[in-house]
Amino acid sequence: MTSITRLRIRDLNDRPVSGAGEYVLYWMVTARRTRFNFALQHAVRRSLELGRPLLVLESLRCDYPWASERFHRFILQGMADNRIRFGRAGVAYYPYVERKPGEGKGLLAALASRACCVVTDDFPCFMIPAMTAAGAKQAPVRMEAVDGNGLLPIHEAGKPFPTAYAFRRFLQRDLPSHLEEFPEPDPLAGYSSLVEPDLPDRVLARWPMAGQDLLACRPEAFRTVDVDRSVPAVGLPGGERAAGDLMNRFVRERLEGYDTGRNDTAVHGSSGLSPYLHFGQISSHQICTALFAFEGWSPGDLSDSVAGKRQGWWGMSVAAEAFLDQLVTWRELGFNNCVYLKGYDRYESLPGWALTTLAKHASDPRGKVYSLEQFERAATDDPLWNAAQRQLLHEGRIHNYMRMLWGKKILHWSEEPREALRIMIELNNRYALDGRDPNSYSGIFWVLGRHDRAWGPERPIFGKIRYMTSENTARKMDVKPYLARFGGP
Ligand SMILES: Cc1cc2nc3c(=O)[nH]c(=O)nc-3n(C[C@H](O)[C@H](O)[C@H](O)COP(=O)(O)OP(=O)(O)OC[C@H]3O[C@@H](n4cnc5c(N)ncnc54)[C@H](O)[C@@H]3O)c2cc1C
Repeated sequence: MTSITRLRIRDLNDRPVSGAGEYVLYWMVTARRTRFNFALQHAVRRSLELGRPLLVLESLRCDYPWASERFHRFILQGMADNRIRFGRAGVAYYPYVERKPGEGKGLLAALASRACCVVTDDFPCFMIPAMTAAGAKQAPVRMEAVDGNGLLPIHEAGKPFPTAYAFRRFLQRDLPSHLEEFPEPDPLAGYSSLVEPDLPDRVLARWPMAGQDLLACRPEAFRTVDVDRSVPAVGLPGGERAAGDLMNRFVRERLEGYDTGRNDTAVHGSSGLSPYLHFGQISSHQICTALFAFEGWSPGDLSDSVAGKRQGWWGMSVAAEAFLDQLVTWRELGFNNCVYLKGYDRYESLPGWALTTLAKHASDPRGKVYSLEQFERAATDDPLWNAAQRQLLHEGRIHNYMRMLWGKKILHWSEEPREALRIMIELNNRYALDGRDPNSYSGIFWVLGRHDRAWGPERPIFGKIRYMTSENTARKMDVKPYLARFGGP
């Protein structure tokens, strides 16, 4: 079992590793997968070093912000996959699903009190940093957070990058060394878990493990979980297996043409992997490994030029490089800003030029102003915008190009820019499977000027912020198939 670069491991408390503990506890919170998982790999290593078995706790609260049936089902499907995988590897797996808000309180502390040390996932966004910090306070032993978010360790850059161009230049200099440090495809291979940890009956009685019925989302069992049912589940299956299948199909069948197809509403041009990436059911390392193999690529193909160009640095096909620019440059820019940009989710964190131009135009007359409820019900006068919102309501996602238009029109039709921000965050995070992610904030704040530049001519409401309209979109591409799919009520 190879060790992980220290850059990816952060001590969340300064308590010692206890040689007297009964097991090594991996508290899986965001990297909800068994493959290409640095945190799991580190926990396995700790288990072997200490000669103690591994116990994996994967828990699901029912009261986190925007929790709903939609996200629960996706996560539970992933937990069902994990249970099978851990079971086959002989690793003790503790799936815990709260039935009532607050019911799970105390479980982590109870398990940590008998552990040698706790390993968890490092994720810089949403409620996770506060949740893991609180867990580390309760644990009487060392808790380490391991970063498996992307190709670049999130604590490496040391500063927030304002643009994709600047970040790409940094990556082109820095990334090559990290391309040699991929996680093990299967950290459980060859691992023998020693003896099963013996869990006290009082713990199991107070916090019963989720049974097969609940993980399979059988209605009788799922009904007992007190979670918001107003956002229903969607057809997309969650879990590591579904993620791997989708990735393989995308790389084999749809990668070619990605560079042009991704922005065309008439075709299904992008990978659709963002929900799986968000819930950690697949890692970007796994996707890159598949892509590298498909392209017959090796690190020797990298270009020496570090000029920040979008094309030509990897030495791959145009489509593969376009995809990597989204998966690596844009995706990891979002993580970079969550780590280093103070108040990344607050209006004030926008660049100065954007704040100035938005303030100058904040009281420009709006032809139309819609409320959150009108936006939510897809009740604007614009059929194309309504179609995008309906896709979000019914599928939990929006076509990549339409998502940009969706945001820009919310800015256009909101009372003022702060209200537009509030509406975008609320709708995106409530309905999108991939919401509540670093890229939720980079996408939403991009609408308001982050990671972009000033554009002319200066326009009402938008000022120098990049402008998009439904009319231009309809001129640029054939939107009829999209309207036919999502145009109706
Ligand atoms: C208003 C708005 C809100 C957004 N909210 C989210 C969100 O909540 N969660 C989310 O993951 N993305 C968000 N994005 C970014 C982008 O729309 C999605 O990542 C992309 O559409 C996901 O589809 P895909 O997996 O098929 O992407 P692909 O094109 O197949 O790209 C592969 C992966 O690269 C990453 N990626 C792609 N485009 C971007 C981008 N523009 N910025 C950052 N990373 C990117 C994603 O992880 C994606 O899964 C938002 C964009 C906008 C304009």
